[in-house]
Amino acid sequence: MSGNASRLSAVSAITGGKPMAVELPESLKDIWASDVFNLASMEDALSKSAFKAMKKTVQTGAPLDPATADVVAAAMKDWAMAKGAKFFSHIFYPMTNATAEKHDGFIVTNADGNAITEFTGSLLIKGEPDGSSFPNGSLRMTNAARGYTAWDPTSPAYIMNTANGATLMIPSVFMSWTGEALDKKIPLLRSNAAMDKAANKVLSLMGEEEIATLNSSCGAEQEYFLVDESFANSRPDLLLAGRTLFGASPAKGQQFDDHYFGAIPERVQVFMQDFEDQLYKLGIPAKTHHNEVAPGQFEIAPYFEAANVAADHQQLLMTLMKNTAKKHGFLCLLHEKPFAGVNGSGKHVNWSVGNATQGNLLDPGNTPEKNLNFLLFCGAVIRGVHLYGPMLRAVIASAANDHRLGANEAPPAILSVYLGDQLEQVYKDIQAGELQPTVSGGQMDLGLSQILTFKRDPGDRNRTSPFAFTGNRFEFRAVGSSQSVSGPLVAMNTMLADSLDWIAEKLEAQLGAGLDQASAVIAVLKELMDLHGNVVFGGDGYSEEWHKMAVEERGLKNIPTTADALPALEDESVIKLFESTGVLTPEELASRYEVYSEQYILSIEVEAKLVVDMATTSIYPAATSYLADLTSTIATASSVGVSLDNGLATTIASTADAMMADVAALSTAMEKHDFATVDEHMMYCAYDIRPLMDKVRESADSLEALVADGEWPLPKYSEMLFIK
Ligand code: ADP
Ligand code: MG
Repeated sequence: MSGNASRLSAVSAITGGKPMAVELPESLKDIWASDVFNLASMEDALSKSAFKAMKKTVQTGAPLDPATADVVAAAMKDWAMAKGAKFFSHIFYPMTNATAEKHDGFIVTNADGNAITEFTGSLLIKGEPDGSSFPNGSLRMTNAARGYTAWDPTSPAYIMNTANGATLMIPSVFMSWTGEALDKKIPLLRSNAAMDKAANKVLSLMGEEEIATLNSSCGAEQEYFLVDESFANSRPDLLLAGRTLFGASPAKGQQFDDHYFGAIPERVQVFMQDFEDQLYKLGIPAKTHHNEVAPGQFEIAPYFEAANVAADHQQLLMTLMKNTAKKHGFLCLLHEKPFAGVNGSGKHVNWSVGNATQGNLLDPGNTPEKNLNFLLFCGAVIRGVHLYGPMLRAVIASAANDHRLGANEAPPAILSVYLGDQLEQVYKDIQAGELQPTVSGGQMDLGLSQILTFKRDPGDRNRTSPFAFTGNRFEFRAVGSSQSVSGPLVAMNTMLADSLDWIAEKLEAQLGAGLDQASAVIAVLKELMDLHGNVVFGGDGYSEEWHKMAVEERGLKNIPTTADALPALEDESVIKLFESTGVLTPEELASRYEVYSEQYILSIEVEAKLVVDMATTSIYPAATSYLADLTSTIATASSVGVSLDNGLATTIASTADAMMADVAALSTAMEKHDFATVDEHMMYCAYDIRPLMDKVRESADSLEALVADGEWPLPKYSEMLFIK
């Protein structure tokens, strides 16, 4: 089918679009976590002693002895086989944002040639996929390409169903044979441990006697686009790059702001319900869904969970969302900026830390004593974002997310912290020495009654801040929609660990010098604010003034592209941060830098090739063929004495020529391969290749507005964005 025929048939296909028929949803009680081997299923399946050992492992990460592992493996196999599984797979998360699996059968044949099944503790605990195909950032030579997966018992195993069968999935870490982290889970587990250790020091100094293991929590809000899948066939850019590389703005875009408040289209509603039932079966607590700002854009937010489990669930959610969308005839776009000129997609990562004894330490709580802990932990976050802002920017950097962060769109590329008016005032008062502890009723009181009633009104949110306090958690809003949440969680936990260590040291000194607890806290926080208060900003993060003030007066960094951002991972202070907290060795960090920079370069190269290809083989032919029609019409008319204006023909000709000149320039630019360093190569991609791609697009989008609609090969924004 020629390009325009395929576009036109896609348009007619969706006109009669109907919701897919799905089975009537079962009750939540029946489906909730029905495909998860969680503590409840283990309690049914295991002996009392084995269950006790397993529960301890799940809750504290304590190692499991081999005998118990055998028992658990056997029970897990029986449970999975009863659900129809014949295969199992360790599932792991390589340094890219992907999810990886290697499936093995439970089957073994015995000497008589009969099939029996087997699943031992050692098979459960350790797998050995061929590691050579996963990026390792030079951590491992290909000839020693052994990578190991190891079971992470703190994240429950589950059943993944397809039309043809079920597989037992075992969440795992992935490491090299010398034990280096090759994935996104190991650093997350380590960062939790580092945070726990440092938090423990601070809480002990604060006089807490019983302190349970601390963990971080994460609730991720996922934004995404849906487009009719039939359009994708004539959109190689959507299929291969996940975004449109061409496309003129529609007459009606998001200007009317009516999509956000509008009813969810019925086909989408049916997709969401089907998708959420699957999430429930897997124990993923989908909580809210709604339309987003742009047409065709939606959001789903599960209820928050322990960070490690939330991160695994988030990956699973993205996979399921794409698969389920396909079933409903949609292409699910997780790209950060699928459509130019239309709002992009983010993933707000809501993050807090706490434990069973002290609760959520980022919750101001109801008593002045709790406020002291809260003020310290919140202060630790302020210090972390100030000291390690460029590192936070680096972990959310990608070619795709640059379209949001660098552009004048939520949120800005300058990392600042939003606290809300009241809380900001508290820290300002502390810094100004205006908040002194008093003794009332024999108890130290900071007189912080204002935080006790801290407003939790979501209307109070500052939507322009990349990092905002939202009542009992921080919301990292600059994370990209297609990213794994692990990187940001690792970054936040690690900077918090570092800050809590700093606080513990200062606090110990103040207490040692004889200050009472409240005065010591105030003294430490005053010093903290003197050093780091510059990062606190409550104004409009999009404004010109802020961009100027942040850099010139506050000394903050505005880091527009991934090429500018990633080198922060090579910074001495960042290397030291990860090493001292035990989260990543310098070699592991360097390998990550290598993988991320390669990915950045690769994704721009793929896009640039697509731009050249689509402009040359699809857009130029459409323009010239229409031009041929036009000129022949003009000639025919003129032969019978009718004179037609040839202005349009001339404009099309010159625009098509200009586009091809830019295509030639882009092709030539892509031939350069002699870069002294990866950094230089990244800068070249950001500041030479990308602008040339934009130039080609500019002419191509002009042509879209000039060429006859029936001859245009690429589905248009107006067709793709409005779901019927
Ligand atoms: P909004 O869209 O107003 O930001 P939502 O309710 O849609 O809020 O999403 C907020 C997310 O934050 C949810 O995933 C929620 O479970 C999560 N969340 C709530 N409290 C905490 C907390 N203490 N720690 C981490 N995440 C939290
Ligand atoms: Mg939010």
